[in-house]
Amino acid sequence: MKTINYPSAHNQSIGYELVKAKEIINEFIYSCSHTMRGPLKSITGLINLLQTEIKSGNESPERYIELILQSVCEMETVLKQLEQSLESSRKNLTIEPLDLEQMVNDVVTEVKKETNFSDIIVNIHVEQNAYFYSDTNCFRLILLNLISNAVNFSDNLKEQKFIDIIINATKRSCSIHINDNGIGISSEAQDKIFQLFYRGSEQSAGSGVGLYVVHEIVKKMGGSISVNSAVQAGSNFFVWIPNLAA
Ligand code: ADP
Repeated sequence: MKTINYPSAHNQSIGYELVKAKEIINEFIYSCSHTMRGPLKSITGLINLLQTEIKSGNESPERYIELILQSVCEMETVLKQLEQSLESSRKNLTIEPLDLEQMVNDVVTEVKKETNFSDIIVNIHVEQNAYFYSDTNCFRLILLNLISNAVNFSDNLKEQKFIDIIINATKRSCSIHINDNGIGISSEAQDKIFQLFYRGSEQSAGSGVGLYVVHEIVKKMGGSISVNSAVQAGSNFFVWIPNLAA
């Protein structure tokens, strides 16, 4: 007599998870190689030009070397962000009480130093009426990415550019609103901005990894993130994170 072993519901669910994980890994490898190919192609092209210039006796090939270095830096940034993303997904959360006001001020100072902006008004409003427990590095990365984006995608046509950072922490959770009057995001692009390597604007100086990392971290913290935006009007990012005091 032949015995047929039907997969249990549990095994079926493990099978589904494995297929899903394999799909994610494949997609990840495909996106990585696709993204790396851009700078590699331009490095190869520049080296070819450089060789021609040297053969024809050009004594000052510095311009090409500078452009090659620029492409190398681009690749380094992508790799650094990917490492950061893998590290934060592997590491367990370190739960400790956070001083949210201090953290926001530190992050804004850091972004100001990096981007050197002076024409954007940053309004910060933090209300914390309970100890808020979470992971310092993860929380910092969320703020850093969202605030940097609000600066990078500001709209030069606006008479007065602004960024509002509103944080409200209670004994249950923390809500973060980062609102800007920047260039905004079309509704089609809003569906894609959390994908790895997605860049939706010419103004992007990054590699399209930032919001992917934010999304992954927020998920890991048991929270959620959403965006509300209109082209030329601005964007509102909303993050909700549970208080891990318990
Ligand atoms: P990057 O900043 O490297 O381009 P991100 O993953 O941080 O990548 O963001 C993905 C895309 O989402 C950006 O290229 C941009 O098109 C859009 N975006 C993100 N934040 C904003 C914002 N505050 N205003 C307008 N567009 C934004």
